Formats: sequence, C-alpha cells, structure tokens
Amino acid sequence: MDKQTFLLWAERNARRIGVKKGQVVKAFEKEMTAQTGIDAPFEIPDTMHVNMRYSYGGQSRFFREILENKRLMGTRCGTCGKVFCPPRSHCPVCYEQTAWIELKGTGKLLSYTTVYFATSSYIKRVPYIVAYIKLDGADTAILSNVEMKDIKKARVGMEVKVMFRKQRDGRITDIYFKEAQ
Ligand SMILES: [Zn+2]
Repeated sequence: MDKQTFLLWAERNARRIGVKKGQVVKAFEKEMTAQTGIDAPFEIPDTMHVNMRYSYGGQSRFFREILENKRLMGTRCGTCGKVFCPPRSHCPVCYEQTAWIELKGTGKLLSYTTVYFATSSYIKRVPYIVAYIKLDGADTAILSNVEMKDIKKARVGMEVKVMFRKQRDGRITDIYFKEAQ
C-alpha cells in the first residue's frame, strides 16, 4: 500500500473498530513498506467482544453466601479436618468431598504488597494493598485487598476482618478486609 492509501485505510479502520488512528498506523505500518508483498498474509484491524457465562462450579456457594447473606464460608475435610478458604470441593490430600462451614471472617495478614501500577480496571484505586490473609479457623490463605486510611501502617501479623461491599455482584471483589479494632 502506498502511504496515502495506507493512511486513509488506517483512518477508516480505526473509526470502524473504535480506536485512535495512530494505534492502527503503528500496528500496521508494515503495510506501508516493502516488507509485505501482494502474496504475504494480510492482517486487518478487528475487534472482539465476548459476553459469556462463567461458572463457579463447586465454589458457587462461597459466592452466593457473600452475595445474598454476607457470610464468609470455607470448606472442611471430614477426614483430615483441614479447612480451606478459598474453599475446595475436595481435599487435595485425602480426595474426600469437603463440607461447608461458616468462618468468623477475622484473620491475620500473612503477607502483603502495595500496588502502585495496575491495569485499567484498578488504575483509579492505586496505591492499594493486596494481601494473603489467613482466616481464623482456616488452614489456607485467601488473596484479597486490605483497605485502610494509612496503608503504610499495614504489617504482617496485623489482625483484619472481612467487609462486605454494599453493592455486591457475585465476584471476589465483593469482599475486602480492614484492620480489626
Ligand atoms: Zn483431608
């Protein structure tokens, strides 16, 4: 493609898929050079939106209890007694089916990091804390956010408790943790 044809092509395609012209120009500038011949594979800009159902499978009740009842659940193996949160439908050691139990929602910060760079969904929230929390009564740790006024005060071993957001969607971000008083 000669330059003028290419730039017009880029402009039309950018409008068609809803991105800036510059992005198409940058991604497809090879079309303007001798690197592509008439027989070379031809790529065009395109876009894809996927609406889908995502199944929580054996973890479904965990999300339903948060959404509907503001309850934090784990699962317990009847053979070895290990309690899992996040829940597991079967014990990874005994291969037994586990049973649901309610957890108090309190626990301790096992490990944490402060996030300063994030993808678009979370960019407005930086800086924020992502932490592994070992819940009281559970043998495993759950990954979640800890929200506090002064995030510099976070420390390993800090006692935290679960909080349920007012608007819950059935997603893991329906819960977060804050320092227990
Ligand atoms: Zn077990």
